[in-house]
Amino acid sequence: MKSQSLLLYLLALTQFLTITFAEPVNKQCIDYPNPLNPAQFEVIDCPPVKNDNEPKVKRKIQNFFKVDLNCRHTAAVCNKIKKAFDDAGKEISKVLKLKKQINVNATYESFSYSESNLLGSAYPARNVFLISDDKITRLYPQALVKQFSLNVHPAYNSHDINARFNADFDWYFKANNVEIKPNQYDFYVVILHELLHGLGFISSWNTYLETSTYQPITGLTPNYYFYGNKFGGFVENIFDRYLKLIENNKKIPLSDYTAQLNKSVPSLTPFNTDLGFTTIVKSSPKWKYAKSALKAATSNKLLFTPAKRASWKNDIYLEASLKPFVSGSSISHVSQSRYRKTSDFVMTYQQFPGESEKFLIRRGGNFRSPIGPRIISILESIGYATDAYPNPIKPIYINI
Ligand SMILES: [Zn+2]
Repeated sequence: MKSQSLLLYLLALTQFLTITFAEPVNKQCIDYPNPLNPAQFEVIDCPPVKNDNEPKVKRKIQNFFKVDLNCRHTAAVCNKIKKAFDDAGKEISKVLKLKKQINVNATYESFSYSESNLLGSAYPARNVFLISDDKITRLYPQALVKQFSLNVHPAYNSHDINARFNADFDWYFKANNVEIKPNQYDFYVVILHELLHGLGFISSWNTYLETSTYQPITGLTPNYYFYGNKFGGFVENIFDRYLKLIENNKKIPLSDYTAQLNKSVPSLTPFNTDLGFTTIVKSSPKWKYAKSALKAATSNKLLFTPAKRASWKNDIYLEASLKPFVSGSSISHVSQSRYRKTSDFVMTYQQFPGESEKFLIRRGGNFRSPIGPRIISILESIGYATDAYPNPIKPIYINI
């Protein structure tokens, strides 16, 4: 999550790397050790494991989150950080019907200069390939996969979420029982925001094929993977299953565009260089779909349509106003201009100083939780159960 500051549009120049597998996707997973840079991933063996009969955490437990906190600050500040994590874990555990413990690896420390406008960042520690209800293979965050209680599942990472928080800001802690100052940011709101990304509130669509410095961005694609040197395909996150773009007043599922992009290169075509691959994809007639995705993502034409029977029925506008496209801010948030002053404030891409959780809830209309109804329906759609939506759509794990 970003601070509202002048450095806002400072772009981290990340070099994306291709996901390369030696084995089929159901035997390998993708780990993201650095939540500030998901481009730094590792392909990890995650062979099928029988459900370990790990006892279900009892429903009466108030906090399903276990946080390993690496806090580089004074004991007084670190205790406040711990308390804020505890409060955030309890709040999410109230809203979602979780079954299994979620392990968070969190660090509180000074960020480097290039990251200094970031309040915090989080990413699933591991993503797993599963088959969605529409028979398309997508990436699911481990925290979510655990909740499905599959009989056989890919081996898990010891952590579900990696998170980092910036110790250089003047933080407001609600436990202090004083009013927030105009220059302070509410730490609790930032933790909630980041944990929700770690739970899977995150899109795969990005500028993977155009990452060189000064290269103009002409299109977006989901991330893609290779078996050795053979093209395996573009692959969405489960979040992306519900995205639609608006084109000529029609709503089109973005997954249709992924399918088209997957026709730009025959599956298992070998490539010796990255450039060889990008040149072929970008010169294919299918590149127009990448262009359309970019256009929608930079002109407020991107929607999240909740799953049938989710508790919020209407389309939700995602953040698609930033131009140029901003990796990490565009798409993976709800529209700031539409929802900042509503009960769904927690998943807009920026936080403003001087605005406490209490203030934001009141301004949003006093919803029962800082996690608003649209945000809840997005979490339900990707697979989390709630009281109003007890039977989420479950993916399939093929264990060959
Ligand atoms: Zn965010």
